[in-house]
Amino acid sequence: MERKTKKKKGGMSFGFSQVDTEFMSVFSHELRTPLAILKQLVILLYDETLGPVNDRQREALVKMRHNVDRVKECIDKLLDIARIERKGFELRYALVNLNQLLLDTKDYFTQQADEKKMTISYHLPHEEVNVFVDAQRIQQVVSNLVGNAIKFTESGGRIRVELAILEDKLRVGIVDTGLGIAEADLPKVFEKFIQVTRRQDLEQKGVGLGLAIAKELVERHGGEVWVESQLGVGSRFYFTLPRFYTADLLTDNLKKNINELLAQKKTVHLINLLIVNYEQFRRRVSARPQKITENLKTIIDAAFREFFKGGGKKRHIFIMDTREGRYSLLFQGSTGERIEEFCALLSEKIKSYFVAKKIENVFIALGIVSYPEGEAAREVASSANLKIKEIYIGAEMRQHKRILYKTGLQIIIDGNVKELCQTADLSKGGLCFISHNSWEIDTKIRVRFHLLKKKAAIETEGRVAWVVRMASSAQDPISRYRIGLEFTGLPDKDRQLLEKELKLYYE
Ligand code: ADP
Repeated sequence: MERKTKKKKGGMSFGFSQVDTEFMSVFSHELRTPLAILKQLVILLYDETLGPVNDRQREALVKMRHNVDRVKECIDKLLDIARIERKGFELRYALVNLNQLLLDTKDYFTQQADEKKMTISYHLPHEEVNVFVDAQRIQQVVSNLVGNAIKFTESGGRIRVELAILEDKLRVGIVDTGLGIAEADLPKVFEKFIQVTRRQDLEQKGVGLGLAIAKELVERHGGEVWVESQLGVGSRFYFTLPRFYTADLLTDNLKKNINELLAQKKTVHLINLLIVNYEQFRRRVSARPQKITENLKTIIDAAFREFFKGGGKKRHIFIMDTREGRYSLLFQGSTGERIEEFCALLSEKIKSYFVAKKIENVFIALGIVSYPEGEAAREVASSANLKIKEIYIGAEMRQHKRILYKTGLQIIIDGNVKELCQTADLSKGGLCFISHNSWEIDTKIRVRFHLLKKKAAIETEGRVAWVVRMASSAQDPISRYRIGLEFTGLPDKDRQLLEKELKLYYE
């Protein structure tokens, strides 16, 4: 199922003008009332409240009711798309467990699948999957996709609902062994009023709006939706949602607090601070991660107090994931602009902290991205109750970025191997090795070392740039030295080889 249609970046416009949208909304409302009366009358007739009916009349009434329901569904969908497209459409975010959200409709769909003699199975992670979404709207997306899977799969078929936790997002998949979609039709299915399955025997025809609504809703959440399908084999509909980084650490109490904040009509801000390349960072920085986290918390608290001084008792919740180098800050009130300013202050403060701690060659605040991306999305997000900002703090690709690298190193004097040592780290400009001998600063030495991945040896001249005596212990009383060697005569060919090798270690 290699054929795919993927979302184009930048959001989608349905091509309705504001006037069209308003017209559609008014028109649909006008249709709803007579339709409700019609349905009521059909029920009165069917129930024989208005007098006895014979079997043939009853049959006709069942059909009438069924068709009234269909018209109502069409109108509801039209109204819904008009509502979603209208300026000021709001997503009501809450912190929900996505597993639970999917399970909420499991019984309903299992029953529907049973009726059509097909199976439906759910494959969900064991742990809670906490995510910020408008639960009702995401349920609508899921229901539409699962409903379609049931509608376009024949009896004996199988449907699979799955949830995968990816690095920075969650992916929901609805996979069916149904009719499938022709390749030429794939790019069209998410368009409005498009139906590509031309089968007269389908019990319930739709209006071709479900997928258009689903796409719009997923994109408003900052996710993507796509389909992979093959005619006669089946379809796989997928959608993603951004992951809430520190969600794994939430206690029930914290979740309750967050949802209380979100339930108030006021805007809540979520700032995610992410240390990218955290693993490398942890290895290179001598301070304990807990210590850094404590310091970060102090910085954030101080920035918060400084920025919102006089703003009353603004509650904020700080959640940290020291294992992964991820932090979240959640609070209420303030405008988007103020938050931009606050984020700028925060990243400035964090940057100064790392500079002061002399971890400048590892750390630099890369800046702020606002989420969801794009102008249209930003406009929309401004009417949601949750605004998300992310600050990435990451390793800048330094010219001489060092990586941990353990390989054998020979020190060559007068063409003979004088000493066998081991390297500790390596960069384009030099390396660090451990030796039993102390070397004088600026001594010129020749070294040969083995590249682990490229499986080649490099021989070069170098200058001893620094020497640090390592602490000896009772178990290991022999003193050792860490020696920083700067390459001075690395041939071009070897430099290129070294660069290629290092690239394999950069993430
Ligand atoms: P509707 O279901 O109201 O027709 P949708 O927007 O939900 O509208 O779907 C649009 C079209 O995409 C459907 O009419 C059908 O042709 C196709 N489609 C959607 N889901 C599936 C599926 N699981 N298998 C095959 N075709 C599908």
